[in-house]
Amino acid sequence: MRFTFWGTRGSIPVPGPGTLRYGGNSTCCELDLDGQRVIIDAGSGIRPLGQALGPQPGELILLLTHLHWDHVMGFPFFAPAYSHQAVIRVGGWPRGLPGLEQMFHSVHVQGYFPIDFGYFPIDFKDLHADILRDPSLDPPRFAIGRHQITTIPLNHPQGAIGYRLEGPGGALVFITDNELDPLAPAPPELVEFCRGADILIHDAQFLPSEMALRRGWGHSDWASALRLAQAAGVGRLLFTHHDPGRDDQALERVVEQARAQAGGLPVEAAAEGQVLEL
Ligand SMILES: [Zn+2]
Ligand SMILES: [Zn+2]
Repeated sequence: MRFTFWGTRGSIPVPGPGTLRYGGNSTCCELDLDGQRVIIDAGSGIRPLGQALGPQPGELILLLTHLHWDHVMGFPFFAPAYSHQAVIRVGGWPRGLPGLEQMFHSVHVQGYFPIDFGYFPIDFKDLHADILRDPSLDPPRFAIGRHQITTIPLNHPQGAIGYRLEGPGGALVFITDNELDPLAPAPPELVEFCRGADILIHDAQFLPSEMALRRGWGHSDWASALRLAQAAGVGRLLFTHHDPGRDDQALERVVEQARAQAGGLPVEAAAEGQVLEL
């Protein structure tokens, strides 16, 4: 299993000199599962991924966690969607494909009046790729080659799902957009979901001191993510969905503080371009 971060930022892309180390693109990850390319989320990071895939992108699987803007905004700029050579099988979040379609221009007639919808000038039907919903990639459990994938509902406004990917090399859990209660232990079903994973990637958008004013926004503070990792006995923890207001230096300070409390558990902040091998 090879996992690459193409976007680690939460909420909105923040390019610029302050985000060169950890990256400014919003959520997108690429997995190579025994040669099958799988993409999780279509934030702005999916645009450079599309460039890297080149003119023969082949068959791709796109798994969505949910439909918030920062997780789909890159899809209209994903070059393979315009390629006759591409097949994009969409799975994961149950309303994923209709959600992507709604971003594109369409005209509906209501009574006598044509009404324009969408947030992008191209019609979805004008995308050349074969883009289809694949029911074999529905939650809560499915397989891609030798890899077993399970999902869990997350604590997030309008919902979201987390993924656990398990294969011959080990287990990786990816949980973005999830609010843990800083005043309570992590939910037992979530601890079980993460149990013994070699790698846990978890939302750590906020500082513990920020949570009082951000309850109900659907994101965690890093100390709660660390407590979940410790309770689940994972091998390594990476923070993701970095706050757009937190520059590289501020993220380095978060990692330093987290390491001081981690009791030897390896902790880092996910960086755009970083590759994990299992
Ligand atoms: Zn998000
Ligand atoms: Zn969200």
